Amino acid sequence: MLKLFVPHYYIESFQTLSIEYLKKNHIKVLFCDIDNTLVAHDEASANEKVIAFLQKVKQAHIEVIFISNNVKERVYRFAEDFDIKAYAFARKPLKMTYKKIMRDTGYKKGEIAVLGDQLLTDILGGNRMGYFTILTSPVVKKDLTCTKLNRKIESIVYFMLEKRKKLRRGVYDENM
Ligand SMILES: [Mg+2]
Repeated sequence: MLKLFVPHYYIESFQTLSIEYLKKNHIKVLFCDIDNTLVAHDEASANEKVIAFLQKVKQAHIEVIFISNNVKERVYRFAEDFDIKAYAFARKPLKMTYKKIMRDTGYKKGEIAVLGDQLLTDILGGNRMGYFTILTSPVVKKDLTCTKLNRKIESIVYFMLEKRKKLRRGVYDENM
């Protein structure tokens, strides 16, 4: 059970994500969380760093699809500046939205990577689906109220993972 919380790849920020490593793993699409993965939850739109990142991924011929548990208004507002598909109210870690995206787009399990900042939603959900999972540290410490309980449980999961030497918070994978 605990292994479902272990990401395949742990990075400090989307800016340190190795696109070459994704290519090497035959990844064709990145299911990307928004809140605290790309920007803080109260930032309505992308900043220059995020725009540069999204361009870099696109240039590598990897599609980005936004998948967020947040409400439509927030998610669509964020996505409207880009030609990027977006799925709101995704209920990660449940499988329904991941399955819907696969039906809509035709991507296969082995071609999909997820990027997110939460073990309990992004990483658990991605691992349950058999995707390549990428954990990033949150952009800011501040969370939505509904995320605060998740963060408390997450701290316990981190503690258990550290104890079993599966994952250490803040010790990132490098040179992938
Ligand atoms: Mg998030």
